[in-house]
Amino acid sequence: MKHLEDCVARTKKYEMAIAEFEERWPDYCRDCGAIGAVHYTENMSPHGSGRYWPMEMQDVCESCLGSCPRCAHEFGEDEHMAFVEEMMDCPKCGWQWGENQGDEAPYPPVCLCYLSRDIRM
Ligand SMILES: [Zn+2]
Ligand SMILES: [Zn+2]
Ligand SMILES: [Zn+2]
Repeated sequence: MKHLEDCVARTKKYEMAIAEFEERWPDYCRDCGAIGAVHYTENMSPHGSGRYWPMEMQDVCESCLGSCPRCAHEFGEDEHMAFVEEMMDCPKCGWQWGENQGDEAPYPPVCLCYLSRDIRM
């Protein structure tokens, strides 16, 4: 499939950003993208109603639970409690629950090229 010019540019930009991020944080959690949580959508409509009522849910990322999602610093028990309950910064790299720019790995761009009529498949 072909991509529009700005999509190609966005993808290039993303590839550079993610390469930079990986170089800086080689041990970040790939499963959650250094967010520390995973998002999923659940159907909250009453069972059997046949309706679809999506709710955005959030869960802790099990892959990096107990360590920093970005620098993989392993927390001691006290550290872990403070980290989870008081939303403490990572004592090693300063990761702060996505509050700071660069806490999370860059997201891949959304490609909507297939919607474009400029591209013939
Ligand atoms: Zn595209
Ligand atoms: Zn994770
Ligand atoms: Zn860290």
